[in-house]
Amino acid sequence: PASLAGKTVLITAAAQGMGRASALACLSAGASVIATDIQAEALATLAAETPHPERLRTAVLDVRDTAAVAALAATLPPLHGLFNCAGYVHSGTVLDCDEAAWDFSMDLNVKSMWRLLRAVLPGMLAEAARTGNSASVVNMASMAGSIKGFPNRFAYGTTKAAVIGLTKAVAADFVKQGLRCNALCPGTVDTPSLRERINAAPDPAQAERDFIARQPMGRLASVDDIAPMVVFLLSDDARLITGQALLVDGGVTI
Ligand code: NAD
Repeated sequence: PASLAGKTVLITAAAQGMGRASALACLSAGASVIATDIQAEALATLAAETPHPERLRTAVLDVRDTAAVAALAATLPPLHGLFNCAGYVHSGTVLDCDEAAWDFSMDLNVKSMWRLLRAVLPGMLAEAARTGNSASVVNMASMAGSIKGFPNRFAYGTTKAAVIGLTKAVAADFVKQGLRCNALCPGTVDTPSLRERINAAPDPAQAERDFIARQPMGRLASVDDIAPMVVFLLSDDARLITGQALLVDGGVTI
């Protein structure tokens, strides 16, 4: 497995789902992890789940709050990795997406990445120059967006397409300064928010069957199918990979 020994990584939305699994996987791979989320109680339970709590720091961070992002960044050691994981699935077509819903999704799914990058990139670039190892940013996108359109994912697909564009722009700007930036594009992953979407459906059992049916491998992805890709992209094993949208989708886009 890829090693993150000696690296410090910041993860947003680390209280549950893929962010949480990635925080635990990064700790197992040897990283020091700054796990952030808006859910303080769920963050507090992370330490009990890792054999390496001494390398874990948790912090409440709302990625929609520019001042809070800057304030936290000012307290951090130099970072080698950033996993921008926070995001929200708006369900519906353009006709279901009013201005507030549009603004919320763009803010949480895209502008948050602008906030984090502005706050931590200068330190990451300085650290990359100092160590000679590439710094790595992983941005959470999705198979839904510019890769494939899905019904009732208007705002979501728009934001996740923007994440891929943002990722390629950052990759192009800093490729000569030792910074890599990639987008992760999962298929349908069994996480607390997916369970909420299933349970909110008129027929939850059918909704779950429908989600599984669109996965050619015949099952939902688990968070542990995704976290190893996060570790790999953050590691030096991925040193030649930048500007890519990496699909981990169980075959949906074959
Ligand atoms: P989730 O949706 O169950 O959890 C999301 C986490 O984000 C929660 O812990 C929540 O507290 C946190 N969060 C919400 N608003 C926040 C804010 N303003 N600041 C900081 N944190 C905030 O977890 P998930 O399903 O693993 O989703 C994580 C990411 O993966 C999202 O960007 C999502 O769009 C993306 N994604 C999910 C799937 C899937 O099928 N689950 C597929 C592809 C991509």
